[in-house]
Formats: sequence, structure tokens, C-alpha cells
Amino acid sequence: MKETAISRVIIGEYSRRLSDYIESDVVIVGAGPAGLTAGYYLAKEGVKVTIVEKKLSIGGGIWGGAAGYNIVVFEDTEIIDEIGIACEKKGDLYIADAIEFATGLGYKARRAGAMIFNLLQVEDIIVKEERVQGVVVNNTSALMVGLHVDPFCISSKYLVDATGHPAEIVGFLKSKKPKQFPRALQEYFMNVEEAEAGVVEKTGEIFDGMFVAGMAVCDVFNLPRMGPIFGGMLKSGKKAAEMINERLKNSIS
Ligand SMILES: Cc1cc2nc3c(=O)[nH]c(=O)nc-3n(C[C@H](O)[C@H](O)[C@H](O)COP(=O)(O)OP(=O)(O)OC[C@H]3O[C@@H](n4cnc5c(N)ncnc54)[C@H](O)[C@@H]3O)c2cc1C
Repeated sequence: MKETAISRVIIGEYSRRLSDYIESDVVIVGAGPAGLTAGYYLAKEGVKVTIVEKKLSIGGGIWGGAAGYNIVVFEDTEIIDEIGIACEKKGDLYIADAIEFATGLGYKARRAGAMIFNLLQVEDIIVKEERVQGVVVNNTSALMVGLHVDPFCISSKYLVDATGHPAEIVGFLKSKKPKQFPRALQEYFMNVEEAEAGVVEKTGEIFDGMFVAGMAVCDVFNLPRMGPIFGGMLKSGKKAAEMINERLKNSIS
């Protein structure tokens, strides 16, 4: 086996994928529970979707459960049943293993056809004619070291900020359009019930071409925090996917 043959096949395939997905229907920023769920439901419908994740691992805040105790909690099982995660009823709640949840959700999203690029960080967005049209990305490790490396771009018909707390992508809009986004990007005090309902209700398009899903919704609308309960994250991701799907279908017909 030749060493350079291994390198060549990796470089060739990565370049092919990147070049293929550099024009995507939907770009989702963040491979946490909300982003992966949105990616799964979009890809399942045949949408060309790219998920960009700045860390090496996908899963966002799933892995740690609560305070590092790797058990996750849901109020119902509709979406986790579809993903195929084993869960157990405990009183009014359902619990699952955080490791199975993170890996299972990532597997389902990828298997459905969502392309996931990890170790890539979104550092800005493309806005033309008052519509979000894509993202500006760079290699996370280059940004960590602070190297002066120019980024590249991925275009999208719709962009989803699923970056969790503190809504990094909405932050780019806010910094350049403070009048349109006057509120501070932050959540309110803990209130699980209100936050779980609110995060789903407020999921949607907040600027032409740009949706917000998951924990980022709490920051944008100053909703309460909800802690280690993940049902709202999944429902929010699914809702964003359904709304975007509808838009894409309408734009074709
Ligand atoms: C640091 C942290 C803080 C939390 N804070 C709260 C809280 O205040 N209140 C609460 O109720 N729960 C909090 N949680 C608990 C729970 O984990 C989250 O509610 C849940 O994970 C949010 O899901 P999400 O999919 O919206 O975002 P996350 O699980 O946070 O996933 C977001 C993903 O986006 C990626 N990302 C972020 N910016 C970029 C970028 N520029 N480019 C590419 N990728 C990017 C992140 O690396 C991450 O993987 C927190 C978890 C963590 C890890």
C-alpha cells in the first residue's frame, strides 16, 4: 500500500464533496440536536443540505446531558422513535443515553443524505439585495491559531442558524443591522415549560433567507433557558425543516 495513494484518495474525495456542496439548497450552521434534526428531515425529502460544524465532533450539547451526566430527557418520543433511539419512560418523562442519541442522530442525518463538514467554522454570511445567500467559512484550526487565512463560501437558498447559545450567525446580522435586531442575544431565567413551548413556536425565518432553530431561538427572542431537556430542540429542528421544505416546493411549482 502506497502512503501517497491514501492521501490522494482522501484529498480527492473531500474536494469532490466540497465542490459538489458548495452550492446547496440549505446550509445549516451547527450539528447539535436542532441542526442534525433539521438536516435529517430536509435530506429525507431530497433537499441538498450541508451542515457546517466548527468542532471536530458533532452532537453539540448532547454529549454531556446534565452537568456531564450523560442521560438526556424528552417529553415525548415521536421524533426519537423515528430516529430509532431507545428510550425508557420515567414518570412523565422519557430518558435516553446521550451517547446513543448523539451518534444515532448524526448517523440518521448523514444516511438520509445530509452532507456534514466538521472542523469548518462559519465566520460571516453572504447578504445580497437584503437576502441571506450563504456562508463564509474557514478552517477552525486556522481561526483558533489566529492565522491570516482567507475563507471560502458556500451558497444557500436558505440558511439555518442552529448554533445554540449564543446564536452566532444571527450575531453577524445584528452587528451590521443593529436597528433590525435591537435586543441583546441572551436567554432569560430558567423556565422549562415556557422555553420548551416557546422555542418551537418562535422557530422560523427571522430575515429573508435565514431561519433560526434550537437554543439559538431562545437567545434571539430572549426566551427562558430550559436546561438538559432536548424535545424542544428536536421539534424546533423539524419545524424549520418543514417550513423550508414548503418554501422550496412552492418555489419549484
Ligand atoms: C456551551 C453550552 C451552553 C449551553 N447553554 C445552555 C443554556 O444557556 N440554556 C439551556 O437551556 N441549555 C444550555 N445548554 C444545554 C443544551 O446542551 C442545549 O440546550 C442544546 O444542546 C442546544 O441544542 P442546539 O442544537 O440548539 O445547539 P448546540 O447543541 O449548542 O449545538 C450548536 C452547534 O453549533 C456549533 N457552532 C456554533 N457556532 C458555529 C459556527 N460559527 N460555525 C460552525 N458551527 C458552529 C457548535 O460547535 C455546536 O456543535 C448548553 C450547552 C452547551 C454545550
